[in-house]
Amino acid sequence: MTEIKSAYCLQCKEVRRFERRGVNHVLHLLLSVFSLGLWVPLWILLALCPEVFHCMACGAEFIKLPDGYVGRKG
Ligand SMILES: [Zn+2]
Repeated sequence: MTEIKSAYCLQCKEVRRFERRGVNHVLHLLLSVFSLGLWVPLWILLALCPEVFHCMACGAEFIKLPDGYVGRKG
């Protein structure tokens, strides 16, 4: 599952699309089954710390400022 937002990118100096890849729960379920549960703590960790958004053009990291969302170099 991928989330996409539009925001001003400081690297590109224009509005870009930023994407964030969600946690693939099906993959983690399979890994947990095959590792006999050893994967579960990692799965929980990944689910609690979702990836930040990145500019789809230059890969800059997405940050939130009081006046809106902008991208900065990651
Ligand atoms: Zn960019």
